[in-house]
Amino acid sequence: MISVKNVSKSFQHLSLSQKTVILQNVDLSIPKGSWISIVGPSGSGKSTLLNIISGLLKPDTGEIYYNDVDLYQLHNKAKSDFRRKTIGFVFQDFKLLPYYSVVDNVMLPLLYDRKKKELYDKAVTLLQSIGIKKELFSRLPEGLSGGEKQRVAIARSLIADPDVMVCDEPTGNLDRENRDRIIDLLGQLREDGKTIILVTHDLDVADHGDKLYFLKDGSLTLGGVSV
Ligand code: ADP
Ligand code: MG
Repeated sequence: MISVKNVSKSFQHLSLSQKTVILQNVDLSIPKGSWISIVGPSGSGKSTLLNIISGLLKPDTGEIYYNDVDLYQLHNKAKSDFRRKTIGFVFQDFKLLPYYSVVDNVMLPLLYDRKKKELYDKAVTLLQSIGIKKELFSRLPEGLSGGEKQRVAIARSLIADPDVMVCDEPTGNLDRENRDRIIDLLGQLREDGKTIILVTHDLDVADHGDKLYFLKDGSLTLGGVSV
């Protein structure tokens, strides 16, 4: 169970001495093994909320709990170890490392604590399961299409077999066939017991979740229950 408790976040403008409130007293409970979808207008704070939930951005107030672990009470190393083991994050802008090949990007999160061969085989299996062909494995990210980069980013987020998948617009660059492939993959991950937190513009994708939330004017509201 993940609990978002009374989270608020503002950004300070450097040039103006004023703040913009992005999230205001957001509460959210996400049961283990469920898939929640969050939709909302561009700039409404969806990525900010995902970053906070994932331990990448400290909220101004409020707490994030993974069961009884208070994420922002963990110190740096403990927090990054916890994040690496527990959370797979798919960034909206992929964040692939430009000087590493496709397969190296996927292996990277675990490169320092697993046997290389075992890790390579796992990376290959993951890449193939989301339709990345073998001839792309040794390419640098700059040689990939947007959709291919997105799928490599998804493979990387799965390499440590995390319990929780946090996905920021994971189908934003995909055609219908590949989008459906990602929907199937997320559905499979949920069946395997993983928790999925997904932000999307695509209501068809959002609809596959157990619950649909809208983020608007700093607040989350429950939009629909589809199971
Ligand atoms: P969404 O993902 O819903 O499009 P974001 O969470 O990316 O929205 O951003 C919400 C708002 O916060 C936007 O107005 C954005 O410009 C602003 N913002 C995001 N990150 C920062 C930051 N690091 N510093 C200042 N403003 C930011
Ligand atoms: Mg965003």
